[in-house]
Amino acid sequence: METVEIDGVSHRYYVLKRKLDFDEDEVHEFKGHHNFTKEQIPPHPKYDRPSRQPVSKTMNAMLNSSTGGTIYIGVSDDATVHGILLNQYKMDHIEQNVSDVMHRYTPCVPSHRYSINFVPAVDTTNPDTVKKNLSSSSSVDEGMRQKAHSLRLYHHCWCDKLLRAINYVQPQYIVEIVIHAWDPADPRNDDLAVGKMRAHPIHINEEGRAYRRCNASVREVQPYVFEC
Ligand SMILES: [Zn+2]
Repeated sequence: METVEIDGVSHRYYVLKRKLDFDEDEVHEFKGHHNFTKEQIPPHPKYDRPSRQPVSKTMNAMLNSSTGGTIYIGVSDDATVHGILLNQYKMDHIEQNVSDVMHRYTPCVPSHRYSINFVPAVDTTNPDTVKKNLSSSSSVDEGMRQKAHSLRLYHHCWCDKLLRAINYVQPQYIVEIVIHAWDPADPRNDDLAVGKMRAHPIHINEEGRAYRRCNASVREVQPYVFEC
């Protein structure tokens, strides 16, 4: 993670092909894809099982752990920054997708419990391109942004087709999905807090399952179990 100042504003960015200086653990998870739920995962080409683990599983596990955590989409398991191609429409799609998943949980997850950051991933082999990359912006059609996205299918959405159809180099990003640590004192958590100790609830995911974070992986739990 680096920062650069442009016109008095500090910008964070990742360096493409560079390894992060931390590994996966209780509060960090790397994902090379952005298939949030099971129905978005394409069938395995050879076997009758999913080809990858949905991001929702980790989101659910971090929500069910008091420390929260961050999921880095666009980073491989060995901590190398690869980035994913995004434009404004695809960012809108991802934001809507995360919100859709959070609303499918029981209890439903309010928006103050998480945030989403789109942080540029930049090729720094030519230092002159860093500022250029970070300050570039493509034109956005506000009318197109109102168009509904296909959220629960593994088929490509209109925004994916558009992303691939444009033949100039799109900026790359790391998508950070930040699950905030549970704050029992936050009045916005009044409807979620459990018992006199105001413990965090156990959210059940869209498949009727609940997970907790254990080191760098997830473990299925019964909704009433609070220990890892
Ligand atoms: Zn879309």
